[in-house]
Amino acid sequence: MNDKQLIDQQSKTLGKILVLEGLITENQLRYALQLQQEEYEKRRLGEILVDLGYITKRQLREVARKHNLRTPVGQILVESGLISDSQLQEALQEQQLRRQPIGEILIEKGWISEEQLAQALSRQLDYPYILPNRRLVDKSVLKLFPDAVLREHTILPLFRDGDIITVLIHNPEDRAALAKIEQITNGKFDLAIAPKSMIRRVLREILQEQYLFTPVEGALEETSRSGFRRYTLPEVSAEGAPTAESQVINIVDYIISSAIRQRASDIHIESLYNKIRVRYRIDGKLIFQTDLPAHLGDRIVRRIKVLAGLDIADSSNMFDGHFYVTLDNTNFDLRVSMFPTVLGCSITIRTLTREIGLKDLGDLGLNPKVLRLFKQFLDAPAGFVVFSGPTGSGKTTSLYACLNYLNRGDVKIVTVEEPVEFSIEGIAQCQLRGTGSRNVREHIRAMMHQDPDVIVIGEINDEESGEAAVHAVLSGHKVFTTIHADDAFGAIMRLMDAGLRTYLLASTGLASISQRLVRRICSQCRQPHQPPRRLFEMFRIADSDVDNWEFYQGKGCQACNSVGFMGRVGVFEVLALDPLVRDALLQNVNATEVRKIAMQTGQYLSLREAGFLKAVEGETTLEEVISILSYSEQQAFAKLSLSEAALRSWLEVDPSSHESSAT
Ligand SMILES: [Zn+2]
Repeated sequence: MNDKQLIDQQSKTLGKILVLEGLITENQLRYALQLQQEEYEKRRLGEILVDLGYITKRQLREVARKHNLRTPVGQILVESGLISDSQLQEALQEQQLRRQPIGEILIEKGWISEEQLAQALSRQLDYPYILPNRRLVDKSVLKLFPDAVLREHTILPLFRDGDIITVLIHNPEDRAALAKIEQITNGKFDLAIAPKSMIRRVLREILQEQYLFTPVEGALEETSRSGFRRYTLPEVSAEGAPTAESQVINIVDYIISSAIRQRASDIHIESLYNKIRVRYRIDGKLIFQTDLPAHLGDRIVRRIKVLAGLDIADSSNMFDGHFYVTLDNTNFDLRVSMFPTVLGCSITIRTLTREIGLKDLGDLGLNPKVLRLFKQFLDAPAGFVVFSGPTGSGKTTSLYACLNYLNRGDVKIVTVEEPVEFSIEGIAQCQLRGTGSRNVREHIRAMMHQDPDVIVIGEINDEESGEAAVHAVLSGHKVFTTIHADDAFGAIMRLMDAGLRTYLLASTGLASISQRLVRRICSQCRQPHQPPRRLFEMFRIADSDVDNWEFYQGKGCQACNSVGFMGRVGVFEVLALDPLVRDALLQNVNATEVRKIAMQTGQYLSLREAGFLKAVEGETTLEEVISILSYSEQQAFAKLSLSEAALRSWLEVDPSSHESSAT
């Protein structure tokens, strides 16, 4: 049966039952079915009936439960590949004897985690899956529930919407708990699901805290100069008047501060059909944080608009905004983007901080030997450094780290950038105004009149800016730039197109660096690990050599949220131009040949080698390294084996033994 037939079948059964139970009329059913037929993206009949206001969500769930219309949770777990069919059968047999919920049996056997069970229940019953946190709790709602009831049933009341209270529960089939909630709320409640141990942990925190609680108010103040708003996030949630507004303030504070504490680069808040989904991008991967009830959507949007100084009255919800927050004495610059969707609004918030933006050259992740050679290169009076790599690969961070290294009292640094991403004390940074190549050339000419030692041309994208850069470096300056190219060779090719051919003929003071970011293994849970043999094929390591190397992985711990990774580190393809490589480039030799020549000079570290070394040093995994190697990279190296001796030479750290290779 395909999806469409399945929905038709289920709709007929459900519709008949609802009419028999007297919850809807024949006419209402006919109308809803007709609507369903006309829909392009078919919704379930139940959703339509709820939308039309014919029945409530609770009535729908009650009917589904009574008449066994729901997909069993065991089947959901099998379908999502978490357990096998035979494991399910075994657990079901055991259930016959023990009369325990199937989920608990599966957890006891260690086949699924508490989180996985809670997520499956959330899918089965269509309740939001909310990760509990004390800052989500409306204290006025909490007071309605005696401590003993909360402890006994492991439930946690969270929000109030009108007179409906959302209560967090781990087992929504727990009759005794439901009866208690029913009694306390007079039947006006909605459920959401969370893992039992997490509810218990938050309960413990809250019940202890109630007696020690000191409220701290978050203060919203406007900074007059920039007109941007600066907001200090409270350490503990405010216990002011228990209004809907103050609770939404707490929730937004919680979303932002826990994102910052988990080092998220972006916060995603999206409206789904019947819930709000909050996800964080951490180390480049989008990670689920929590669901929230759909009714909070409008108020969250409104609150973020207030923070970002956007027009609350404008309901188009297509905005870009900006505000600052202070947390743990660090300032964060939050860039808000709102985008209207058919289900409400998609909000993304990018978190930027200056402190994290400006790095030390030594912290980028350059191989120690490369770092030493690169510093010698930077210390020379003239030269050309070009950074390349895809967007978000950290090339701007690397460029700034170089400037940070060179930024001394006796060095004049002038930049022209589009845009200026961080401002650094002691450097003359200029924002490129207007567009067009004439414009770039004029900026460069003006920059040269500043008597600089080091110049930065944000990006070279045509012949005129390329020639101006060449002129600068030939007259004895150090020039830094970035360029859009896949790898270190591609970057030089692009520069040759932009008029650098003359420069290549005249000199060799050129370093081309292409970079990627890989996730760093969590230092708290790192352990030795033998990667599968097939991974070595990519590196063309001889089978006999494989066992000479040791590798690592993070097994997952509390510090890294069970991910096994924490933070990211750069992997650098580094090419210092050597006469042999220069000649090959000028003669348009093909990419594989040029690489072979470069590898023989000892002045070139490929991305593949650099990544392999990062894995050997225990900083990342081979899987992460493979994920950053592009198709063209793999092709170019398909026949080149990595030699153990060559790799080991990059791992040597004794500075005295390499003085000769520095020039
Ligand atoms: Zn860890």
